[in-house]
Amino acid sequence: MNSAPAKIVIKSPREVELLRAAGRVVRQVLSELGALIRPGVSTAELDARAEELIRRAGGTPLFKGVRHPQARMPFPASICASVNEQVVHGIPNERPLAEGDIVSVDCGVRLKGYCGDAAETFALGRPVPRVERLLAVTREALEIAIREIGPGQRWSRVAKQMQKFVEDNGFSVVREFVGHGIGQEMHEEPKVPNYYDRSQRQVDFELRPGMTLAIEPMVTAGRPEVKLADASGWAVVTRDGSWAAHYEHTVAVTSEGADVLTNGR
Ligand code: MG
Ligand code: MG
Repeated sequence: MNSAPAKIVIKSPREVELLRAAGRVVRQVLSELGALIRPGVSTAELDARAEELIRRAGGTPLFKGVRHPQARMPFPASICASVNEQVVHGIPNERPLAEGDIVSVDCGVRLKGYCGDAAETFALGRPVPRVERLLAVTREALEIAIREIGPGQRWSRVAKQMQKFVEDNGFSVVREFVGHGIGQEMHEEPKVPNYYDRSQRQVDFELRPGMTLAIEPMVTAGRPEVKLADASGWAVVTRDGSWAAHYEHTVAVTSEGADVLTNGR
């Protein structure tokens, strides 16, 4: 099997540049929010600033108004802000962040019809060593994927290396949420898991130049299982209460490797 499944949209160089332009806005937002994050700031304030920056750049927030079968209401904010044991999809709120907290900020932007999606976990002050390590290992899992991506490579090979690195460091990879293709839609085919087991055999795919993927390891300091936090149906937390980190880049596969579209370049 040399060809990718037909449903994976291959982008032209021009389309890759449009994704990069959207990705630049995402990076600008994450950088600015990173500089604002300190004890006493609420995630609602971060969200307001994010929306302002996105709209000023001529973009629209990708997450606002998104519907999910499990959720009671469309997602109400421009960023997801997931604190401590929250893994993803945290709804920004007025509670002030405190020294020692970690907050995973996920930002998506549509600009001129193309999407960018990236996430980063920020620590407030100096976290305890195990939390510091959780962030470093999750960030490195994403870097491993970026280094390992190449044309002709099967995704499962990349995913196995991310998973091995995380588990060798005593942490766990979340299974229920995975990365995704991205282009004119935020979520396109294929699914891009951060682990590999036999259940993934049927959905494995070959990396080809022009594929654009949002790669987003979600790592917990304890067990991998997650659940919905509350009746809103949005925020996802670890079942065991352990803390979680989340890093994401939008990446284009090239003839040589990976081209990161959300690093601000
Ligand atoms: Mg995201
Ligand atoms: Mg994503």
